[in-house]
Amino acid sequence: MSHLPSGRERRRLGLDVRITRRDFVNGVLIGAGTVMLGASSRDAAAAAEVAGRGAASEPARAIRGAGEDTFTGYGGVGDYARANGNTWPVVQAAHRLRDGQYDSAALAHAQAAGEFDLVVVGGGIAGLSAAYYFLKAARGGRRVLLLENHAMLGGEARQNEFMVDGERLLGPQGSNDFSVPERGSDSLLDSFFAEFDLPREYAWQSWGPKLRPLRFARDNYSNMDGFQESQVDIGYFFGAAGWRKNIWANALAETPYSASARRDLLEWRANHGPLSEAENRHLDTLTYKDYLEKVCAYDPAVTRMVEPIVGLLSGVSTDAACARLGRQLVEAPDRAMAVSFPGGNSPFPRALLRGVLPQSLPGKDFSTLMYAPVNFAALDRDDQPVRIRLNATAVRIEHLTERTSREALAVTYERGGSLFKAEARTVVMASGGWVNKHILTDMPADLRAAYDQFSYAPALIVNVALRQWRFLYDLGVTACRWFDDTDGIGYCCNIRQNMVTAGHSPVLHPDRPAVLSFYMGLPVPGLPAAAQGVTSRTRFLGTPYMDFEVRIRRQMTSLFARSGFKPERDIAAIVLNRWGHARLIEPPGFHYGVGGRPSPLERVREGYGRVAIGHSELNGAQHWGSALEYGKRAGEKAAAML
Ligand SMILES: Cc1cc2nc3c(=O)[nH]c(=O)nc-3n(C[C@H](O)[C@H](O)[C@H](O)COP(=O)(O)OP(=O)(O)OC[C@H]3O[C@@H](n4cnc5c(N)ncnc54)[C@H](O)[C@@H]3O)c2cc1C
Repeated sequence: MSHLPSGRERRRLGLDVRITRRDFVNGVLIGAGTVMLGASSRDAAAAAEVAGRGAASEPARAIRGAGEDTFTGYGGVGDYARANGNTWPVVQAAHRLRDGQYDSAALAHAQAAGEFDLVVVGGGIAGLSAAYYFLKAARGGRRVLLLENHAMLGGEARQNEFMVDGERLLGPQGSNDFSVPERGSDSLLDSFFAEFDLPREYAWQSWGPKLRPLRFARDNYSNMDGFQESQVDIGYFFGAAGWRKNIWANALAETPYSASARRDLLEWRANHGPLSEAENRHLDTLTYKDYLEKVCAYDPAVTRMVEPIVGLLSGVSTDAACARLGRQLVEAPDRAMAVSFPGGNSPFPRALLRGVLPQSLPGKDFSTLMYAPVNFAALDRDDQPVRIRLNATAVRIEHLTERTSREALAVTYERGGSLFKAEARTVVMASGGWVNKHILTDMPADLRAAYDQFSYAPALIVNVALRQWRFLYDLGVTACRWFDDTDGIGYCCNIRQNMVTAGHSPVLHPDRPAVLSFYMGLPVPGLPAAAQGVTSRTRFLGTPYMDFEVRIRRQMTSLFARSGFKPERDIAAIVLNRWGHARLIEPPGFHYGVGGRPSPLERVREGYGRVAIGHSELNGAQHWGSALEYGKRAGEKAAAML
């Protein structure tokens, strides 16, 4: 934790200026620091979580003293305003579940909540996909209940919305990039795009004639590692050595790296291309750090360059992530850039929502798909085949077969402090293993053992709504990477060139508003993979909103003050999106198994009884396509059970 500022620094960081988030956290700035846990109690809590005990909710208890909004902070405007990342109520409900507070005595009072052919747990892409493809596969007249524990659908593919100086701005909360599927390729993604009439060509904001154009990433990843620097203007901040632009263009000649570091960095970057199955299997047996430093014998500068990228994409540091994942990360600099919608991948779950409940997102065109408000009243109506219940946490699911000889399951969920019990002929778990293993109380021992091999790490996505971004424009860049800030936060940020659609075309100008996004993992080098996830999550959940805000402001000031950035003038709002279990960690052996034991992924994919499992994590590395695919498979499997 960084020390919270007082006096001069508060003014310098613009903390005394009233920005939107002040409505939420007013008055808690001074107190926020005192609710932080000391490192020792944090680490004790982490150790307890590794051991499966409940004490890890301590950071959460500590923050509670200062109130809910000191954790969640400001959430923006619009439908997603109360669902920025994992919010306080969701974290609390999840911890009650983990700590075994929903015991049989408590559940005995659950109110009856109806009978359904399918109950889906999770309203991300996978859950909505399961509901959509279930309805397509099952005969008519089916009833589906979908439970989602957040106040909004979409899961990790939700968006933040801002209104700044009359401009409506969107930013991704997490999931944001995709590659456009080839038309006629007969893939699931191709048919999904065709079915929902999603465009495959896009218009982007254009520069006015008087402005010197800069090149943008069209997502929030292409800039991160510099691989696509030939298409993006990226600034690299080397602390005392200052800024360098597009360092790879002249083979790192202007960087402070030694000759051997330069040689090895260039070699590392050139080492891309598809791997054979045998190579993948071999790389699955090593850590990425060993691969870089022992197999390739690269200068440690290579490890330092890639460390935060691996930390974001795998959740852990290079000494715990497998080399397969690290090697696959290196890409050809001239590959076609991935793209993203203004709100990231949020149109995908929105399309599926429209597919299962057309009245919930009226309209048929792409613009309303992206921007129209959700008709919440249409989500949970008895006259529809699908009922969607938000703010509803599934807490226990068990087969009734043994007790009643009925081919059905009891699904208990909590909503608004009360417990409800629905009966379902089938269930799709479109939620991750970290919750499933607490909910599915009758799962077979081998499935539980497989889930016990899953571990997760957090990620933090921060969207800063700017009134203007001339401080970046004057540096000649739209994306930044920094290296050696001890009290800093993150390692990169960027502004995307916005997609323009009918009725929505924000102006592209450095004196107009834009969203600056920071993506970061929080790995803890030196610890084993699972312990890294637990330790970083415990610290992460124990850090108040204000502490993160101060660190973001300090980081931006140290990067941009010299090019004219003024926090009190330029920052309109800051939204944190915390993802406690962002990544399924892939340590060595995870994909191909160890010592003849198969990968746990294989067992989890099978599900059991009348429960189909369909979360994106079943792919290992999660992405929107794997969410769609595994959700579809689970929905169809459930339909086949009827
Ligand atoms: C920071 C970040 C960045 C990413 N970037 C990209 C990207 O750029 N491109 C890409 O393709 N993918 C990206 N991903 C991967 C992303 O996981 C997938 O794209 C996809 O959104 C996952 O969908 P899902 O439905 O499988 O899971 P989720 O989105 O996790 O959905 C599961 C839902 O179930 C809910 N839930 C959990 N427990 C319960 C319960 N007990 N009761 C009720 N509901 C519950 C959860 O709250 C959640 O809403 C990113 C992920 C993260 C975290």
